[in-house]
Amino acid sequence: MTRGAEIRGSFRRTRIIAACLFVAVSAAAIVISAELWREQAERQLQAKAAETLAVQAEALTGILDKYRLLPPLLSREASVLTLFRSGGVDDGAARRKAIEIHGMSGAKEVAFLYPDGRVLATAHDLFAEDISAQGQLLTAARQGRLGRQAISLESGERIYGFASGVWDDGRLLGILAVYVDFDPVEATWSLSTNPIFVTDRSGLVFLTNRPAWRLKPASTLMSGATSARRMFLGGDQIPHGDVTRTLPLLGWELHVLSDERPLATARWTGGVIAALVCLLLGAVMAFFIQRREANTLRMRQDRAAALRLERLVRERTRALSQTNLSLSHEIEERRQTEDVLRKTQAELVQAAKLAVLGQMSAALSHEFNQPLAALRTYSDNAKRFLDKGKLDSVGDNLTRIGGLVDRMAGLSRSLLSFSRKPGNKTSAVPLGPVLDESLQLVQPRARKAGVLLQRGASDAPYHVLGGHIRLSQVFVNLINNAVDAVEDCEQGCVWISVQERPEEIVVRVEDNGPGIPEDMRAKVFDPFFTTKDVGSGIGIGLSIVSSIVHDFGGRIDLEASEHGGARFAVRLKVAETESLAAE
Ligand code: ADP
Repeated sequence: MTRGAEIRGSFRRTRIIAACLFVAVSAAAIVISAELWREQAERQLQAKAAETLAVQAEALTGILDKYRLLPPLLSREASVLTLFRSGGVDDGAARRKAIEIHGMSGAKEVAFLYPDGRVLATAHDLFAEDISAQGQLLTAARQGRLGRQAISLESGERIYGFASGVWDDGRLLGILAVYVDFDPVEATWSLSTNPIFVTDRSGLVFLTNRPAWRLKPASTLMSGATSARRMFLGGDQIPHGDVTRTLPLLGWELHVLSDERPLATARWTGGVIAALVCLLLGAVMAFFIQRREANTLRMRQDRAAALRLERLVRERTRALSQTNLSLSHEIEERRQTEDVLRKTQAELVQAAKLAVLGQMSAALSHEFNQPLAALRTYSDNAKRFLDKGKLDSVGDNLTRIGGLVDRMAGLSRSLLSFSRKPGNKTSAVPLGPVLDESLQLVQPRARKAGVLLQRGASDAPYHVLGGHIRLSQVFVNLINNAVDAVEDCEQGCVWISVQERPEEIVVRVEDNGPGIPEDMRAKVFDPFFTTKDVGSGIGIGLSIVSSIVHDFGGRIDLEASEHGGARFAVRLKVAETESLAAE
């Protein structure tokens, strides 16, 4: 598996894990958020309901409190006592009194009753006949306590009665009852959209802002209670929260129901918001994972490319090093070969030079023998003249001897100088002495062959770039070849001339021999080209001459001679002032 595939696999696993985590966390977040929103909405609903409850409870108890003390107070009033003392005969007066109290207090009804419960007088005849249902109210009054009881009339009206006994010296004369209706309370409640109701001890709905519920058991109205404080209202199945408050003195319970549908909306909103936030976070997370993967892959590709490049550079460097090494070896081999070649060339030059010397050896030995014989003659003559006492003649002979010795010494010096191994440096060389020496060496042979050597008249002290011995070799070779060419001629002659040209000195060696045929001109400078017999020449003379002249930066040309023979022009560089100073 490649590294790229590994990275992709690893990120695929990361994505799967992240997706699982995302689903789990999102689900939890949605549930929690929905629940929090619902709880928040519920708190608000309950707070509102509790507020309504408190207000309505106060309104209810306020109304009841207003009438609660009325019976005890009125039962002590003298006019009321008088009514009962009179034995109830004057029920007209009692009625008037009841109407008066009713008018003053605003109660629903005011009644005067006999201790046994019979009605003496009422303000409105609300329950003229039967008040047996008010047993609880009367019993308490008879016992000297404040009687109180909620009463439902046959007409459907609900009232609340307070009763107090009318006592005279510990004797119960009658009972005064005041009744309150709840119309104003219910009218206030009807303004509220929340269902509000009061249940009495038996669980009947006694007061409510929903007329249809009146006097019905609360349990029949609310079904499917999901908890003690939550229920569905019958019929429309709307969930409602129930906030209750007990009214202790009355033994009632005040209920305020609140529509809980907004709770579902809040839960849904919370869930949707959490889902959207989770989706956003999920998208951001996916984007970052995607980007991370792309970055990792790119970095890996960059690294791979860098490694490839590094490897390539390493391989190239190694190959270059090897090439370099083999080149160094080759250079070294070439250098050695060149050394050998140079050495061989030098040896060849030397050998060629010695070959020329060998060619000239007979003439040279004659050149030495002839003065030696003359020396012998001159010394014998000197001896004889000495015996005869002719001192002048002795002196003359000795002078001749000295001249001969000088001549031999000069030739010997030239021979020595010529036969020495040449150096390989190039410097300014005075041309005149070189030519003198060359001519001196070839002269004996030329003389022997009957060839005339003629040097052009030029005593200018030219200096050329070259080496003394190698230059001598050039001229000796050329003059020697010319002597060879004219050897058999009637009046063989060799001309040596020097010409100065801009930046070069031209030395010409020409003869009046047969010359060089046209077809041979290109070959004469080739090594081992010769037209001479075996033993007379080996054909390297001109090739060495040409190579020496080129080494000096010069040139050798074959020209046509006006004398009919061959003419070689050696062009040499004029030595610069600095070279001369060095010399
Ligand atoms: P070698 O003298 O041993 O033959 P060179 O290289 O000196 O070798 O000369 C090559 C040939 O050039 C000679 O064999 C000769 O044929 C020709 N040559 C050289 N100089 C002259 C000259 N002055 N006149 C005619 N031919 C010449």
